[in-house]
Amino acid sequence: MAKQYGPEDCLLVIDVQNDFMPGGALAVAHGDEVVPVINRLAQAFARVVLTQDWHPADHVSFAANHAGTQPFQTVALPYGQQVLWPTHCVQDTHGAALHTGLEVQHAQMVIRKGHHREVDSYSAFMEADRATPTGLAGYLRERGVRRVFCVGLATDYCVAWSALDARAAGFEAVVVEDACRAIDLDGSLARAWQDLEAAGVRRVHSAALLS
Ligand SMILES: [Zn+2]
Repeated sequence: MAKQYGPEDCLLVIDVQNDFMPGGALAVAHGDEVVPVINRLAQAFARVVLTQDWHPADHVSFAANHAGTQPFQTVALPYGQQVLWPTHCVQDTHGAALHTGLEVQHAQMVIRKGHHREVDSYSAFMEADRATPTGLAGYLRERGVRRVFCVGLATDYCVAWSALDARAAGFEAVVVEDACRAIDLDGSLARAWQDLEAAGVRRVHSAALLS
């Protein structure tokens, strides 16, 4: 019988949304390939939490809202450096919807992040001002979760930041490498793996979790 993960383990499915898929507004190369891997993993987890990037149209992370800028350039905002992105995952649009191929009907919680106009939130736990919690740490703690398995998009932004913040909040954290795909902007993927390793985040392949 395939391995099963109990109530102390949570599969955190990060931003598997249309705008991050090939053809989407902020496409992650091969982003759709994570869907079948996540579906296989999800069958093994009793606890599944989903996140959705969920921005107002006038969000501070959109290049379109900063005159004279282009997507993927970095600007200084009051809380620090911010990459400006193409307009993506606007609340209640098709682009913000979860990929319809996800088979995670038993997911118990959806965290929507990036909904404050003035602050981005790559992390599922803490907004980019590093001061505003999303509430996920408290939710997981109250449910008795001790270990978080991070999957989804993109490895070097929302997945990495979520895994690092899971560690900072006192959880064990694991990134399932083949259940993620990266944006890799100016070496961001290599930096992310370095940061994850330094923080004690485990890097595994889905096959090792399911056998
Ligand atoms: Zn976003």
